Amino acid sequence: MKACVDIGGTKVAVSLATGAPDSIAPDAAKAGRGALLGRISEPTAKTGSNDAVALQILRLIDQVCDSQQVDRASIDGVGVSSAGPFVMAEGMTELASPNICGGIAGPARGLPNDWTTALLEAPLRARFANVRVENDAVSALEAERRWGALRGFDHCAYVTWSTGVGIGLCVDGHVLRGKNGNAGHAGHSFVTSGELDALCGCGNVGDVEGIAAGNAIARRFHQPAEQLLAAALAGEAEAVSRADHLCEVMGRMLYNLVVTLDLQAISLGGSVFWNNRDWLLPRLESRIAGRLAALTDGVSLMPAGLGDKVGDYAALALVA
Ligand SMILES: [Zn+2]
Repeated sequence: MKACVDIGGTKVAVSLATGAPDSIAPDAAKAGRGALLGRISEPTAKTGSNDAVALQILRLIDQVCDSQQVDRASIDGVGVSSAGPFVMAEGMTELASPNICGGIAGPARGLPNDWTTALLEAPLRARFANVRVENDAVSALEAERRWGALRGFDHCAYVTWSTGVGIGLCVDGHVLRGKNGNAGHAGHSFVTSGELDALCGCGNVGDVEGIAAGNAIARRFHQPAEQLLAAALAGEAEAVSRADHLCEVMGRMLYNLVVTLDLQAISLGGSVFWNNRDWLLPRLESRIAGRLAALTDGVSLMPAGLGDKVGDYAALALVA
């Protein structure tokens, strides 16, 4: 029995997965939540000492076990898919997410703690021998490679275009991690200049996330991303122009990933993309096709095979 943990800036969710994860057929994964048991979620702990998130996870695992009448001692693996970035302390992953740790940006950020990092892996390892922590986009990439659109690809990426922009990368069959498990933070790369109204939560002005993420769209255009894209789909000229520019920024980032890593395929998910995928996909493809053909010919951009359930299967993929 495995525990699957999903940590976001807003909520923490825990569920259990039974049996041999490899027995989960792709169709079962697509069909729904059959493989995951007893999912519960709570607002992410942000008060008290900086082990509060880890203690919350341990408590929620016990709670799910009890609600499912599962022996707590039968949990032999924990997969944690979490918002990043991470830092390492004595070989253990800690959270350094600006939406959880109030000490990073200081009191102006308004979080009810002064944590510069939040403990994560060490308290879990004190109880469970088998713990794997990955960035949520990396976990989603693993789920897409196992059950979704990226099956069979050794050179690929998963990109989520949602409240933020996250990327998981795989080259030569190896999922990239980097020195602190932060490989794939291309959402904080610069692809344009002069975006003076585009302040990212990371402090950069004019990076991809600061320009095109769901939270940036809302801040820059004073309307939810969903509303802007609905207007673009309806053909309203100003909205089309803004949405085209968002596609140019995202498309350049995708192109940069393809040519830097020699990728075959990228699958895309996240609410901004997923809810408007038919309109966005060809506009993103047009930023790649025809440029430097030796590197881009035959590259596939695809909607996530797991659809809007990628996140549900991300943590499961880590213990599968
Ligand atoms: Zn940024």
